[in-house]
Amino acid sequence: MYTSEKAPAKINLTLDVLYKRSDDFHEVEMVMTTVDLADRIELYLLDRDEIMIQSENRFIPNDERNLAFRAAKLLKERFKISAGVKIIIEKQIPVAAGLAGGSSDAAATLRGLNRLWQLGISTEQLAALGAEIGSDVSFCVYNSTALAKGRGEIITELPAPPSCWVVLAKPSQGVSTQSVYQSLPLDKVEHPDTIGMVEALKNSDYDGICSRLKNVLELVTLPKHPQVQQIKQQMLQSGADAVLMSGSGPTVFGLVKHESRAVRIYNSLRGFCEEVYIVRMLGSHQTLD
Ligand code: ATP
Repeated sequence: MYTSEKAPAKINLTLDVLYKRSDDFHEVEMVMTTVDLADRIELYLLDRDEIMIQSENRFIPNDERNLAFRAAKLLKERFKISAGVKIIIEKQIPVAAGLAGGSSDAAATLRGLNRLWQLGISTEQLAALGAEIGSDVSFCVYNSTALAKGRGEIITELPAPPSCWVVLAKPSQGVSTQSVYQSLPLDKVEHPDTIGMVEALKNSDYDGICSRLKNVLELVTLPKHPQVQQIKQQMLQSGADAVLMSGSGPTVFGLVKHESRAVRIYNSLRGFCEEVYIVRMLGSHQTLD
């Protein structure tokens, strides 16, 4: 028996860090949405008691360190499953890019195994299990637009942004999320208008969304990776309505209303940045203008 799942990337419309908690995690507030750049996860039922993982991507581990492996192990142990699974990951999302690729693979594995092993777990329960694997996994279980609080695991779903185009550009370096959080000078943070962003989404207010894009982790990543700032400038010069770094970076995204403008930005970045994608946000059904 076999099933497959899409594991889409996320981008941050806001990312705020409020304080460092006594458990060493940071208390965050993030508005995130899902885009249609996705890994594909294939899950094959095995009779023997084993979790196998395969991927041709040389940047991710093919063993128990893989977040998809950890998702399968968690379900197997928690629900005392004697069967095994072979997990094949076709990677499309750049690794260590601020797009939650690993978290999304873990979330897709949870969703897929819930079906394959016929566990009957609710989405809320899956999201709670996801939080045991990583802070972004709960959000990725939903594949939607949401406000994430706590260390990222307290999810309130929101309406998707109005239909628009997203250009993603990933500089060649990867970024370690942990080291970015550790280097953040909390006293220098200018906080995003998270409530305003939530309202803009509820009102389907594209301009309101654009004017409130803000990520406090730029404070750390921008000085260390000058290419991130250069890409932001290039996108704005080529007509992006608004630009931001996603997560801990280094991926930058630009929002535009029209496809032709997205293509112009895409072309202006080719040669300057290795990985550039034109994508859409998932669940955006309203049209603009
Ligand atoms: P986030 O935005 O959640 O911080 P990210 O997009 O910056 O994540 P990932 O692509 O998830 O980063 O990769 C972070 C690290 O996780 C990498 O060092 C990678 O080796 C490891 N990893 C483990 N499993 C996976 C997976 N299935 N896909 C990608 N990376 C994985």
